[in-house]
Amino acid sequence: MATRNIRIEGEPILRKKSKEVKEINDKIITLLNDMRETMHEADGVGLAAVQVGSLKRIFIAEIGDEEDEDRVIEFINPKIISVNGSQVNIEGCLSLPGKTGYVERPIEIKIKALDRNGVEHIYEYEDYYATVICHEYDHLDGILYNDKLVDPPENEDIDDIVIEE
Ligand code: ZN
Repeated sequence: MATRNIRIEGEPILRKKSKEVKEINDKIITLLNDMRETMHEADGVGLAAVQVGSLKRIFIAEIGDEEDEDRVIEFINPKIISVNGSQVNIEGCLSLPGKTGYVERPIEIKIKALDRNGVEHIYEYEDYYATVICHEYDHLDGILYNDKLVDPPENEDIDDIVIEE
């Protein structure tokens, strides 16, 4: 495994649409392994392939069950099946170091994706994890969280969550 350079806002690749993975070959497995190492080294909770310079529809996120030794889930060719509700939270991004902003996201999300063995899974997430998934999914379409900034909510207590950082 090796770490790869994280692309920073301003680099044109971050605005490109990633392409479907046609075949999960050795190159894809190496990419997944390198993404894991890069994410861990950067102390992130999520990372999209485009953030390390690969325009593949792949992201990873550290959102497995707490009792799992390996909490990183790999999403290959993910498709959001359904979303529900809305929440506003603070997000950050490894590609926008030192910045954060408020973003509105669904509270619940259902997503399907392949794992590295080519097996399709359907995952359901809510709250914080729904935000993480939506943030990463947007990267595959060249969207960064700061495209979606909203005003801070006035009323409730917000858990300060910072994605990726
Ligand atoms: Zn990000």
